[in-house]
Amino acid sequence: MKLPFQNTYANLPPSFFEKVTPTPVIQPSIIAVNDDLARELGIDPAFLRSDEGLAILAGNTIPDGAEPLAMAYAGHQFANFSPQLGDGRAILLGEIAGKDIQLKGAGPTPFSRRGDGRSALGPVLREYLVSEAMHAMGIPTTRALAAVASGELVLRETPEKGGIFTRVASSHLRIGTSQFFAARGDLESLKALVEYANHRHYPEAKNALDLLRHVINSQAHLVAQWMGIGFIHGVMNTDNMSLSGETIDYGPCAFMDRFNPAQKFSYIDQKGRYAYQNQPGIAQWNLTRLAEALLPLFDKNEEKAVESAKAELEKIPEIFEAAHLKVFSQKIGLQDNPDWDLIQSLLNLMKEQEADFTLVFRSLGHGEKTFLSQFKNETSAREWLARWQAAGEADVSLMNSVNPAFIPRNHRVEEAIADAKKGDFSTFLELHRVLQNPYQEQPGFESYQETPAPDEIVCATFCGT
Ligand code: AMP
Ligand code: MG
Repeated sequence: MKLPFQNTYANLPPSFFEKVTPTPVIQPSIIAVNDDLARELGIDPAFLRSDEGLAILAGNTIPDGAEPLAMAYAGHQFANFSPQLGDGRAILLGEIAGKDIQLKGAGPTPFSRRGDGRSALGPVLREYLVSEAMHAMGIPTTRALAAVASGELVLRETPEKGGIFTRVASSHLRIGTSQFFAARGDLESLKALVEYANHRHYPEAKNALDLLRHVINSQAHLVAQWMGIGFIHGVMNTDNMSLSGETIDYGPCAFMDRFNPAQKFSYIDQKGRYAYQNQPGIAQWNLTRLAEALLPLFDKNEEKAVESAKAELEKIPEIFEAAHLKVFSQKIGLQDNPDWDLIQSLLNLMKEQEADFTLVFRSLGHGEKTFLSQFKNETSAREWLARWQAAGEADVSLMNSVNPAFIPRNHRVEEAIADAKKGDFSTFLELHRVLQNPYQEQPGFESYQETPAPDEIVCATFCGT
């Protein structure tokens, strides 16, 4: 089968990338292929599972029509600016059906610095599970086309089995892409980037200010949706926030069990910069960096350019709050009479009583008794319930279509990874299957809804790169 590659990114000016070829691995094998996504892209899933397909997914052969490259980008990591990061362990093959097809872990690139360009199996499986679960929940995200075991070891703290992940994205343009050119004063490339990003993501947008406006809108909505499912990205660096508004870079990401607004999991995020409740503010901080990078394109007159940028940036809290209110109003089934006080008092109650974020919201569509059983102190939960009932008739089917029963709980993800490292992929595959229908009750699989037992609680996550 010939894969119908397009190479619009490779046709951008040379400042955008470095050409690179994947480094072959000795003995690759398929772990998972996403049949539905393959079909959506017009690729026969059986081809991907064939020897020829596997060789492509492992980086052992370059398919006809691909022009592999590593993308250039910069970024603020934990608020510190690096003028050059770039794809150190990712190689873009080209686009199929308008989507980027990228291999993660296929060997070093000119941007690898001291890294090996490889991925351990754990992060590959985590990204596969979580990104596909996000998609099934209706959250904008990059997708997983395939996971392959490389048959080689990668050296992390200890030697670990290696993997190669095929990521599909509307594009891999990041806020950091604009910062790369801004830092070099390369206005021609910056202009080309704006044109390209608008063309791919926001066809009605005409200029840099339109791009900023659209990215603000899509990222504000994205973060509101994250908040609604208790998702903590973990590394909201500007190189990990996409211009398309898709969730990208599932490193130390995690879902909250017990509700705690200050929750963070990432081991490297010691100060909690990227904690749950900080995500909206960080998104705004990142968007301000985008505006700074694009500034020279807003207006020839610097003062006017700053004024235009400010006017857009000032709207962020309002856009986010409206999206956030909508998400949570739907979660309590009262979309038509939004009431933040009512929502906030439920969140306060959940925090005080260390109730499970996912189960509390899901239980709202399953009767009083189920709801009350989520709380240690039924009296205050009963009081809240009375207020909620008095607020109007809740839309139960709406609630059940936005409050997931099944999320990739950290202990389940860790369990799937631990078994896979021992060579047993059945835990991973079953978890993945359950997560494909997050809003449906799945008889026989109730245990996947459960909170972790005390000895299963995951306290910290690691990038594991
Ligand atoms: P991330 O934490 O995944 O956003 O990565 C931050 C930067 O480090 C990016 O430029 C990556 O390409 C690079 N990087 C991460 N892991 C590796 C690796 N194993 N080899 C080379 N570069 C890496
Ligand atoms: Mg990254």
